[in-house]
Amino acid sequence: MAVKVCKFGGTSMADGNVISNVKKIIESDAERRFIVVSAPGKRYSQDVKVTDLLYACHQKLLEDGTCKQAFSAVRSRFQNIVKELNLDFDINSVLDETERRIEQEKSEDFTASRGEYLCARIVAEALNAQFIDSEDVIFFDSDCSFDDKSSYKAISAAVSGVKLAVFPGFYGKDANGKVKTFSRGGSDISGAIVARAVNATLYENWTDVSGFLACDPRIVDSPKNIKTISYRELRELSYMGANVLHADSIFPVRTANIPIRIKNTFRPEDEGTLICPVSRYSPAGSTVTGIAGKKNFTVIFIEKSLMNSEVGFISKVLDVVAEEGIPVEHIPSGIDTMSLVIASDQLEGGKLERVLERIKIAVEPDIMRVIENIALIATVGHGMSSSVGTSAKLFNSIAAAEINVKMIDQGSSEINIIVGVKNCDYEKCIKAIYNGFFK
Ligand code: ASP
Repeated sequence: MAVKVCKFGGTSMADGNVISNVKKIIESDAERRFIVVSAPGKRYSQDVKVTDLLYACHQKLLEDGTCKQAFSAVRSRFQNIVKELNLDFDINSVLDETERRIEQEKSEDFTASRGEYLCARIVAEALNAQFIDSEDVIFFDSDCSFDDKSSYKAISAAVSGVKLAVFPGFYGKDANGKVKTFSRGGSDISGAIVARAVNATLYENWTDVSGFLACDPRIVDSPKNIKTISYRELRELSYMGANVLHADSIFPVRTANIPIRIKNTFRPEDEGTLICPVSRYSPAGSTVTGIAGKKNFTVIFIEKSLMNSEVGFISKVLDVVAEEGIPVEHIPSGIDTMSLVIASDQLEGGKLERVLERIKIAVEPDIMRVIENIALIATVGHGMSSSVGTSAKLFNSIAAAEINVKMIDQGSSEINIIVGVKNCDYEKCIKAIYNGFFK
């Protein structure tokens, strides 16, 4: 029988009423057997997420030696949820024990993880399902990276013979036996890990939107919904700032070809977006799947005659930035020119000046120029490599909007074209590309 792993995000856990809907969603499909939950998120726009309340508790604990006062806000969120769900569950003693352990452990990760822990305990109770603590089944190595082999083994042992189980997202245990969290939004990763471990047929990721949109709705009014997207395209788009799903959550499922479906808890009938391997993917007639971008990059442009024949030129330049610990996003190059595209915040605190000085010494360029306030925009789609005229259409749309393109980089995979424009042209450029391909 098919098995679905369902991860429910913070807004799907915000209060007892929403959790009741989640319960209906799970109970309406017997294949939804392994549930991963986030901590309760915001109930309204000015509200505070439970995880943020917990980080504040940790801060208070460091400052005052106690977090009693700060923890009372967390306490009432969970008490309300239990009340709204009408559960016969002694949440107070679980909360007392949690507060005691927070004060004893004095660990930021442990404190932050308690939102997911408490939420999963309640959801397990509401569903009459087994609670499986992620600290017993998700492990990190001594270098703090995720230990896939032992985690997959522990998860599949823990679920053996279990019909319905609830895991808290966001955390696991490190090599010293201490609770460790993923980065923010990391319950998406926990869901993918569980999906991989149980060899799920589908990883459903339930959020408060009906899937991915072809571009940022704050820039284009009601952009098209993406019905199907490949892991690769999603990786490109989320790297460039489209964030429905944590960017790292694709890796565990991708290698096992487990598709992910983004669903909306508040509109469960909507189809959402299916993320799947390219082999199962049929682009719905459009060459471009989505457009995403980010502002605030700096371009270091370097020119030197006969650069192409000087052995090791590029590597000398890259050594300089690597030794300064600066990640490079793109390296567009010509015969006698190359550029380094770097996120501007990586060059703060005198680093830019130091890098320029060191490049000058390392390769003695004829010309070196710095262009700041650059935005990068990626146009992504598998259809782009096979259809003639895609780049013509892209650049015609940008030219028609009278935007000057500062940099072009076509990924070697041919599924994306990245253009660099001035920060101030960013929104206008996204609109122009969207209209060019989707209207
Ligand atoms: N609760 C955590 C956060 O707010 C993890 C998550 O929601 O996925 O970042």
